Amino acid sequence: MATTSPVFLRLMANAVAVANHAGNIIREVMSKGDLGIVEKGVNDPQTEADRRAQQCIIGNFNKKFPLMSVIGEEDLAQETDTELVSDIDKEVLNLKCPEDLVNVTEEDFVVWVDPLDGTAEYTEGMLDHVTVLIGIAHKNRPVGGVIHQPYYNYKNDKAGLGRTLWGIPGVGVGGFNPVAPPEGKRLVVTTRSHMTPVVQQALDSLKPDEILRVGGAGYKVMLLMEGKATAYVFASPGCKKWDTCAPEAILTAMGGRLTDIHGDPYSYASTEMHPNRRGVLAAAKSDDHKWFVENIPDAVKQLVKS
Ligand code: AMP
Ligand code: MG
Ligand code: MG
Repeated sequence: MATTSPVFLRLMANAVAVANHAGNIIREVMSKGDLGIVEKGVNDPQTEADRRAQQCIIGNFNKKFPLMSVIGEEDLAQETDTELVSDIDKEVLNLKCPEDLVNVTEEDFVVWVDPLDGTAEYTEGMLDHVTVLIGIAHKNRPVGGVIHQPYYNYKNDKAGLGRTLWGIPGVGVGGFNPVAPPEGKRLVVTTRSHMTPVVQQALDSLKPDEILRVGGAGYKVMLLMEGKATAYVFASPGCKKWDTCAPEAILTAMGGRLTDIHGDPYSYASTEMHPNRRGVLAAAKSDDHKWFVENIPDAVKQLVKS
């Protein structure tokens, strides 16, 4: 019964349902045609979909878990009238809770929310790059992650639109089938809209067989999860905690790793600064991750440190 389930499982099961609802909002804003774009900074757009999706996610968590810290990307005025999402994902609710989380109460979780990751791509019509990211941290570490991809299958009329992927380290993953990257190839995925000379220098030094340039941290990590790329390399401080918390949880649950480019993990405590100032390095196989940590040159590492 829902009321007797551990808080963590209720939180994850709600995160799946609320992420799905945020996906409906994202599609609705696009179909109405007025994106309401505001520039938050250089090359950092926000749309009506980012705003409304965040209001929905944070409003729901605040009502259902009022003592929990929830940190969202968008800086919004207090929301007063959130539509409550009444459903909850039964499959996730019925998972076996990791032992160390069974008795953790809501005030000891921190939730990092990117209501729409890949906003630049959303405004440019690269819709499969768009994701909703909800990451749950406990004692500084990601313990659960949900990635919803609202436009999955959007080019294929016959298949269902959208999907939701989740992962819990020590428990497993759902919503997709993990696939290993091709052996003997170095396929590196990186930013398409936030290139810098240092990002390029890091890529050049790794001598990849192929560089994939796609939007969003969520979508890049999905390429790792489904064997389309070997590593995600971003030697720049632009990515934030809400970009990496959910992807890190899912990658870890399937045996991968996400760290800074020095190979050190980020802390997801509520008091942490938002930017991932030491860059992002992720791989679905921990051996690949190790290779990339060892092969990113010191000169690049020196340029990307806090
Ligand atoms: P990208 O790989 O460029 O799609 O970025 C992944 C995530 O990090 C997105 O949420 C971006 O908005 C964010 N990001 C990366 N670099 C920057 C930057 N220079 N300014 C603002 N946001 C950035
Ligand atoms: Mg983002
Ligand atoms: Mg965003």
